[in-house]
Amino acid sequence: MRWTNKASAGAALALLVAYASGALACPDPDKALGVSRFIEIDTSGGAIFGSMTKRDKEESFLAEGEVVLTFDDGPVPWVTKPILDTLDTFCTKATFFSVGEMAVNYPAMTKDVLARGHTVGTHTWSHPNNLRLLSIDKAKDEIERGFAAVALAASADIAPFFRFPGLNDSDELLTYLQSRSIASFTVDVISNDSFIGSPQRIAERTLKQAAARGGGILLFHDLKRPTAKALPAILAGLKAKGFKIVHLTAKTPAVPLGTLDAELQPVLAKASSRDVTPFYGPIPPPRTPEGHEPATSELAPPARTRLADPPDAPDKQASSAP
Ligand SMILES: [Zn+2]
Repeated sequence: MRWTNKASAGAALALLVAYASGALACPDPDKALGVSRFIEIDTSGGAIFGSMTKRDKEESFLAEGEVVLTFDDGPVPWVTKPILDTLDTFCTKATFFSVGEMAVNYPAMTKDVLARGHTVGTHTWSHPNNLRLLSIDKAKDEIERGFAAVALAASADIAPFFRFPGLNDSDELLTYLQSRSIASFTVDVISNDSFIGSPQRIAERTLKQAAARGGGILLFHDLKRPTAKALPAILAGLKAKGFKIVHLTAKTPAVPLGTLDAELQPVLAKASSRDVTPFYGPIPPPRTPEGHEPATSELAPPARTRLADPPDAPDKQASSAP
C-alpha cells in the first residue's frame, strides 16, 4: 500500500499548503521556532504514516530537516498545561494523540489543546498496551470509544488521526481504520521520555536522534513532568540546529459513533464538576527535582491511577512507549 497508489486512486491525498512562519510575530525572537508549513491530511484512504511499522506505509510527507511534534497519553493538566505554555512560547504547534479516558476526566484541558491551535487525534479509550491481544470487537471498541470520548470532551471536531498504543498495529485493525477513514501515525524519532526521568537526558537524546535521522515525526508523552521540563531545551535545540516544524491538520473531521455518547456522558458530567477547581486538577504528583533521576516508582503514570474506573473499562496495563 503505497502513497502513490492511494493518490492515484484518489483514496488519500496530502495537500501541502505553504505557510509563512509565525516566527515574525513571536514575542521572543530567540524562541521563534514557529511553523514552517501545514500539511493537510486526507484520511479517506486510512493511510499509515511514520517509519516504525512493519505494514506497508506511505512515503514520508516530510523533507529533510522537518519535524512533526506529537504527544501521546494525555491530557494530564499538570503536564499538558506547561507543555502548551512552552509551545506557545516558541510559537509552534503539535499533534496530541489523547486517551479517551483521560480526555473525559480532564475536558477543560482537552478544550485548551484545541483552543491553542493544536491538532487532536486519539490513542484508544483506556490505553491497553497491545490491541492485538484483545478480541477484535474489544479492540474496535477501544478505538471507537477513544474517538467518541475525546470528541465529547472537546465539544468540537477532532482529527481522524490515531496512534496504536505501543505501536502495536495489525492488518485487521488497520483495515478497520481504513473503513472508518482514520489515518494511523507511527513515529520516526522516539524521545524515550517514558523511561528517562532526567529532563536534560530526554532533551539530549531527542536532539541526538532527530539529528541522526534528519528530522521526522517525534514522539513525546504529555503524561510526566520531566517531558514538560525537557521541552524548552528540545525546542531551543531544534531551532538552533535549523529544524523546521511542520503542523498536521485533517482535511475532514473524525466521525465518532454517537451511540457511545450515552455511556460517556455520565463520566464527563462527573469530571466536569471536578474540573471547576482547581484548573490544574486534583493533587499533583510529587515534583521531580530538575536534573534528578527519580526512583522507578516516581516514574509511574501519575494520573491514570487517579481515574475512577468506568464500569466497562478493560484491565489496564502498565504504560509504556508510546
Ligand atoms: Zn501511549
